[in-house]
Amino acid sequence: MSDVITCPSGLTGRIRGMKVREERILADRKLAKHGGQMDQLLESCWEETLDPGPYDFGDAAKPDWGKVLQGDRFFALLMVRVQTYGHEYAFGVGCQNGACRARIQWEVDLTQLPMRALSDESRAAFLAGNRFETTLPDAGNRVVFKLLTGDDERKLPALQRAAPDRLLSAVLAYRVLEIDGVDAKAKRQFLEELTMRDADFLVDEFDRVDCGVDTTIEIECPECFLAQEVELPFDKGFFLPGRDRTARRRARSSSSQA
Ligand SMILES: [Zn+2]
Repeated sequence: MSDVITCPSGLTGRIRGMKVREERILADRKLAKHGGQMDQLLESCWEETLDPGPYDFGDAAKPDWGKVLQGDRFFALLMVRVQTYGHEYAFGVGCQNGACRARIQWEVDLTQLPMRALSDESRAAFLAGNRFETTLPDAGNRVVFKLLTGDDERKLPALQRAAPDRLLSAVLAYRVLEIDGVDAKAKRQFLEELTMRDADFLVDEFDRVDCGVDTTIEIECPECFLAQEVELPFDKGFFLPGRDRTARRRARSSSSQA
């Protein structure tokens, strides 16, 4: 089965569902460690590019996924999942109510998640070197930042491991390219001193100009009826639900024995 999809930036192509051989990609530990699994999966399942959108891939038939915006990559992966297993995605999460803690089984239609297209303004800023501008409300400085691509996505886990106690400033320093009136060497220091209001504002600005799929979903616990927001689980079970199914069966039989 294959289908034509249009990503949030306008990148359009034909994708196919996963084949059994793609399990090898997901099981490859070396690839997992270097964050190349998703690139490999996209590379395998993207059959042809019909419209490169804002990207310049030269004469290559397939996208250079390192250059592609995170929002597009994620959308394409969702659609690979849809091509492989259909629209519905079933998963289990623990209830957030500490007094309940029931295991909630939920199902979403992956084609119904809200998608935000890349605006014309953002497309222009991306084409002009992936440079986006904003002004910090408290500090007053003008700031230039970038949207994340596949190459960045690969680098972020290492960055987060290196500074687990200063995650926010590490991520901000990675995405902020320039700050008016602040020397490049003093950038990190400046970001550490930002008010939380400025930091929140910056993160909101990152989101505002970005494209992608909204993966926060509201669910309700069938036991205690608490409505709660969860992030769509995006792990190995997303692409290999068979393993999840085995785990669910085991969990069910052990709880019925208890
Ligand atoms: Zn509950």
